[in-house]
Amino acid sequence: MTMRMAKRAVLVEPGAPIEIWDCPVPPASGGDIVVAVEMAGVCGTDHHYSLGEVELPGPMVLGHEGIGRVEELGPDVSTDYAGEKIEPGDLVYWVPLRPCHRCHACTVLEDTSLCPNLSPGRFRAAELPPSATYTEFAVLPAGMAYFRVPPGTPPEAVIAFGCAMPTMLHAMERLGGVEYGQSVVVQGCGPVGLAAVLLSRLAGAGDITVIGGPPARLKMAERLGATATIDIGAAPDSEERFAAIMAASANRGAEVVIEAAGKLPAFEEGMRLVARGGRYLVVGLWSAPGSTPLEPRRVNNANLRIIGSALSRPKHLHQAIAVARSCHQRFPLAEVVSHRFSLDQSQQALEALGRLETVKAVIVPR
Ligand SMILES: [Zn+2]
Ligand SMILES: [Zn+2]
Repeated sequence: MTMRMAKRAVLVEPGAPIEIWDCPVPPASGGDIVVAVEMAGVCGTDHHYSLGEVELPGPMVLGHEGIGRVEELGPDVSTDYAGEKIEPGDLVYWVPLRPCHRCHACTVLEDTSLCPNLSPGRFRAAELPPSATYTEFAVLPAGMAYFRVPPGTPPEAVIAFGCAMPTMLHAMERLGGVEYGQSVVVQGCGPVGLAAVLLSRLAGAGDITVIGGPPARLKMAERLGATATIDIGAAPDSEERFAAIMAASANRGAEVVIEAAGKLPAFEEGMRLVARGGRYLVVGLWSAPGSTPLEPRRVNNANLRIIGSALSRPKHLHQAIAVARSCHQRFPLAEVVSHRFSLDQSQQALEALGRLETVKAVIVPR
């Protein structure tokens, strides 16, 4: 029997051009499955890795947002991680995180998003079978959750929000949701910001104002439910943006501010936009180290809450499919995918993202 080979896009070191390696993928054993990748989301985090803004443990296959067809089931596998029967040919969605279920976070806190051992599948040596997604074939080991994408749900509607929708679903859960009629400001309109807009709209928010850019992303934000947008290209001064938000809210600010900008200065600006009694949800600063001024007295005297949220848990992937399934006809979710690249064009995909040309880019490996 000839061994299946899989091309994969490897970041050897930060700043180096992406290399395409072709290495063997063994047959699925035990609780593993082999998946033929249909679409891999190109995420800002991939770009951060390529620039060296997030530490790289060694040569790494890029991509952590995947939709693929089940190619082969290991002998111990008959269902996805919600107990749905799966067979070769079915579409599944995954992010390559695998909680260890034997640590304080997993077991005592019951919060697998804080598991310190979450990423062994993602950071394994690049010549081993990848669970990462910039590859022709991925191997999902036992314990790495994946869920079936039902027929009739366009895969684009799921991968458009790659890791962003589960991240935002987790964040909204930690926030305690948006109440009917509440005013929301979303900082940033990449996929995380767009997911925040959609979920706020579905929750019945009143005004949803997005601060971000460029215009193509703001236009999409409007189609997903934003009621107003502020283009940071046209309003580069944060005082100007502050004045616009205050003018639109009778000087109150927003009851919920959601940071999805990924840039440290967004925090200070966002804190100023929170209304008295309001909540600030910080989701986008995962790879933005640094410190920033904060006036604790205002947190105290204005009854503010600041809520952080990192990554997601497997249930949020399942919920992300449910959102795509129920909303893709009402909202142009699939159209969020604006650019498609082949695996060989992974470098160009990251560069296009870096220039903010894309709303959402995907790699189509095969
Ligand atoms: Zn991502
Ligand atoms: Zn753990």
